[in-house]
Amino acid sequence: MIYLDHASTTPLDGEVLEAMMPYLKDNFGNPSSQHGAGRAAALGVLSARDKMAALAGCKAEELFFTSGGTEAGNWALKGACAANRGRHIIVSAIEHPALIESARDMQKFGYEATFVNPDKNGVIRAEDIESAIRADTVFCAVMAANNETGVIQPVEKIGEACAARGVFYYCDCVQTAGVLPLPVKACTALGFSSHKFYGPKGFGVLYIKEGARIARLISGGNQERGLRGGTTNAAAAVGCAAALESAVKGADENNKKIKALRDGFVERVLAEIKGSYLNGGENRLPATANISFDGCDGENLVFLLDLQGIAVSTGSACSAGAAAKSHVLTAMGLPEGRVKSAVRFTFGKQNTEDEVRKTVAVLKKSVKKIRGC
Ligand code: PLP
Repeated sequence: MIYLDHASTTPLDGEVLEAMMPYLKDNFGNPSSQHGAGRAAALGVLSARDKMAALAGCKAEELFFTSGGTEAGNWALKGACAANRGRHIIVSAIEHPALIESARDMQKFGYEATFVNPDKNGVIRAEDIESAIRADTVFCAVMAANNETGVIQPVEKIGEACAARGVFYYCDCVQTAGVLPLPVKACTALGFSSHKFYGPKGFGVLYIKEGARIARLISGGNQERGLRGGTTNAAAAVGCAAALESAVKGADENNKKIKALRDGFVERVLAEIKGSYLNGGENRLPATANISFDGCDGENLVFLLDLQGIAVSTGSACSAGAAAKSHVLTAMGLPEGRVKSAVRFTFGKQNTEDEVRKTVAVLKKSVKKIRGC
């Protein structure tokens, strides 16, 4: 299989699995238990949190473990609303459903939500966020980079606009963690997910700036300083820390390699397939290429490529399968044909030039087949 869907998930690194193994086998104790077995697991959790804090540039006490990026986003939005004054929420129109659906949930409780559209390049303008802020705005979410287009967002400027008006700013860093530095200074809270950078699935982190007010989402035991109940997944915490360390250390080299592969791919596709268009502006993550093909249906193309051993997607894994049209490309104002025919290719550190060559060849034939020429 040629795997070009790294924005959906990544394979687990061998060294990450190795780091996790002791906590899946010998150190199986509950990290909250008082006996030696529990303490051994707790030690792993402690050092994982310390390691991630050092990599993120924050305090260990500012990191809270979750089940992934979706929970981190839900917790930030709902927890900030519950703990702070104000009835108005701002969410960018290109956010992951974790934020958009959470905002809709809050609308049912009487909150007002403003969904801010991007420009035609997929960028959320800080000025637009600034003018959406009202006296009763309690929360704002704008992601670090979009999962469908890879377009990087002006997080620092948005953070300044929110800080100036005392608005809780959540930055979804699920696509940028391990690729770009985590913007802990610019936001009130941020979230990331281990399985996007070669770590285990079902584990994520919510950073909450010291002093920020947030209510808990999951009630239960005293884990995560009483803010998130549930037995801590020690193996996943250790795996996430090992994966983040490896991603951060290898970022320069991997970003360069992946960008070169991606750029070579895009250049060939745009030159060799007439009626193909790259979606999103220049300032994108190195891995991502979202391309539309005139006269094609994106879902059909994904299916045809899959039959030939190439894994790509139409957009976010959550909307694919539901055959929903991309809310991201729609918000960018792209015509319906461009939206419906879009396919997302996301490269990873194990991809090769040869895989790029094969993919271009298969893609050319598949597009021709769908177009019936
Ligand atoms: N936010 C973004 C930008 C994502 O791309 C994803 C997953 O694709 C998520 C949140 C959800 O993360 P998780 O799969 O860990 O729940």
